[in-house]
Amino acid sequence: MPLHLLLASQNMSEFDLIKRYFTRDTPGALLGVGDDAALLQPSAGRVLAVSSDMLVCGTHFYADADPYLLGHKTLAVNLSDLAAMGAVPRWATLAIAMPGVDEVWLAQFSAGFFALAEAHGVELVGGDTTRGPLNLCVTIFGEVQAAQALRRGGAQSGDEIWVSGELGNAALALAHLQGRVVLPEDDFAVCASALYQPQPRVALGLALLGLATSAIDVSDGLLADLGHILECSQLGAVLDVAAVPVSTVLRSLIDSPLGRQCALSGGDDYELCFTVPASRHDAVLRVSEQLALPLTRIGRIVEGHDCIIRDAAGNPINPESGGYDHFR
Ligand code: ADP
Ligand code: MG
Repeated sequence: MPLHLLLASQNMSEFDLIKRYFTRDTPGALLGVGDDAALLQPSAGRVLAVSSDMLVCGTHFYADADPYLLGHKTLAVNLSDLAAMGAVPRWATLAIAMPGVDEVWLAQFSAGFFALAEAHGVELVGGDTTRGPLNLCVTIFGEVQAAQALRRGGAQSGDEIWVSGELGNAALALAHLQGRVVLPEDDFAVCASALYQPQPRVALGLALLGLATSAIDVSDGLLADLGHILECSQLGAVLDVAAVPVSTVLRSLIDSPLGRQCALSGGDDYELCFTVPASRHDAVLRVSEQLALPLTRIGRIVEGHDCIIRDAAGNPINPESGGYDHFR
């Protein structure tokens, strides 16, 4: 049934819904919501960086997820992709399928979405609204100088490997929700904020332009995502597991299989992993200070094609899993 028939019975047309919840001023677009397509013009000398990320109920979140936080996360995961390219976020579209019209849910969802959008200067310029199982898909548009964009394939042998923030908290929160570990309430709260309200590292991505040789956001787990850099760059790595930055909560579990798995293979953290020439080590430390964001060197790029993981004593270890893969 088309959404407008469903809505008619609730005295709200599809267009009223879009107008009420998903239409804001878009001074940065030539044309925003309301026509058959938006009209967008990137700044002179810049190209568009475009990425889509979909959140599916039951796969990426539970049906009872807090709608405000879900609105935040729906946009955050997309902003994270632009951060990893070193692009300035400009516009987004939102395709949403929902089983029915729940105005309380819509008000909360859009508030969470727009709070993050405004914080990053992103304008919602269009989308699609339809009935179906709850499904949220954002396409985000940013801009970057083509030659400067942070690609996955630019790492060089000898580069240092760095990561922002802390890894594994989101996976640890999920493990708690799934009953694979029991965390004290305060510890769960720390991890849950990483799971529910990830902070996309947009400012970091921009600060890395001209500094990082490659970058990726850690959405599927460090080993999987670093693996993409290695594959694209046709190089290997040596990774010091003891250097991987984790929260104090995860630190206490780091010698257990679950703890190590969260740190190395846990998805959903949305930190950036990037490579930098060793000669620029101090420049990375300055970026860390300027952004008040911890940045940690976790290893280096080497010739070859393997990622060798070393424990604190320098002995190679075998990780249990290679990260999240929807079809494995
Ligand atoms: P069409 O039938 O031409 O695809 P729609 O009726 O789907 O147009 O949408 C009307 C307008 O509202 C379009 O400009 C579209 O981009 C916008 N729109 C639809 N759904 C959303 C949404 N969830 N968020 C933002 N804009 C939306
Ligand atoms: Mg449409």
